[in-house]
Order: sequence, then structure tokens, then C-alpha cells
Amino acid sequence: MTTAAELFALQRTDLAFDSNVARLAEVEAQLGETEELTSARERVDQCREEVREIQARKKELDFQAEEARGKAAEIEGKLYGGTMKNPKELEDFQADLTSLRGQLGKREDALLEAMLELEEGEVALKEAERALAEIETSWKAEQVVLGETQATLKQEIAELEAKRLDQIEGMDRVALSLYGILRERRQGTAVAVVERGLCQGCRITLPMSILQQARAGVGLVQCVSCERILLVN
Ligand SMILES: [Zn+2]
Repeated sequence: MTTAAELFALQRTDLAFDSNVARLAEVEAQLGETEELTSARERVDQCREEVREIQARKKELDFQAEEARGKAAEIEGKLYGGTMKNPKELEDFQADLTSLRGQLGKREDALLEAMLELEEGEVALKEAERALAEIETSWKAEQVVLGETQATLKQEIAELEAKRLDQIEGMDRVALSLYGILRERRQGTAVAVVERGLCQGCRITLPMSILQQARAGVGLVQCVSCERILLVN
């Protein structure tokens, strides 16, 4: 015959098993990359891309400014070289030079702007890299702890499974099936302890006849309200 005490011991194993399985699922959900880590990495990539873009723009502006400077020097050479006699030609060259200097001024302004942007971009990149390194360090430490917890939980689950097999060996089939049905219906607790005449499963005061039957320990006695198997200590 299977007693309420035996089923209560089985329930303890099953509840521990359930809670470990739930904890394992939580732990496993936290294993792997976090959103915080991914977004910190994306931020670094984004900053790096911005710096690259500014550097390319600066290089192009450098080239254009150099080109304008070269052209201006060429015209100046012709203008002040003393070889040019035609006043109309002189006037045209003077106009070209003025326009080139204007262009050069604009390019140099743009270049200065780009240099400032580059400086800012590099500061932002360093900041993003520092933040990523910090997040990575604590993430790695967390993953180690999670990995250890996962291993411990798996070990405990395996031990509880073995214990359960031991416990159900020789148990009455009908009793086990009732236990299973009640566990499903009553959030995992099929057996309730009776304390001072109260069913601890549903807090109802039990009729004297039921209490006497449960105390006698002859067969399984169920609560009249919640139907749980009663265990009188
Ligand atoms: Zn009850």
C-alpha cells in the first residue's frame, strides 16, 4: 500500500524538480549575447563608419584645396612674371585668380569643419569602445556564473530524476495515477498536510470523520474541498 507520507516525499522531489527545470530555463534564456552587448557593439561599428566617412571627405577636400592652390600659383606666376602685356588678358587672369581664391577659401573652411568633425567622431568612437569593453567584461563574468549554475542545475535535475525512480518503485499504480491527476489540477501539489484540523492546501476545517480516517492511515483520504490527499503528522 502506498501511504500519504510516501506520496508527500515524492511530491517534495517533484516540486524540487519542477523548480529546477524552471530555473534552468531562465538561466539558459540568459546565456548568449545580450541586447546591451549587441547594441554597444553596433554603436562602435556606427562610430567607426562615421570616422571613416569623415576621413574620406577630408581627404577629398585636401586634394581639392591642393589643386586650387596649384592653379592659383600657376596664374600668379603668369600674372606677375612680367611676360603678359595684353591688358585684356591681364584682366581675365586677375578675375580667374580672384575666383580661384574664393573657391580655395571655401574649401579651406570645409576642410577645417571636417577636421573638427573628425576630432569629435574620434572622441565618440573611443567612448563607444570603452563602453563596449566595460559591458563585455561584466557580460563575460556573468556568463561564467550562468554556465556554472546551468551545470549545477542539470546535475541536480538528474539526481532528482534518479531519486524519483527510486521513490515510485513498488508504489501502487492507482495511488500514483491519483497523485498525477491531482498534481495537474492543483498546481503541482497533490498532497496537503493537515494542521490543527485544517487542510493546508485549501485552509478548510476538515470534518472529524475525515480526520479520523486520515489519522488511521488506512488507504488514501482526500480533502472534501480541494480533493488533495491528506497527510496527518
Ligand atoms: Zn483541502
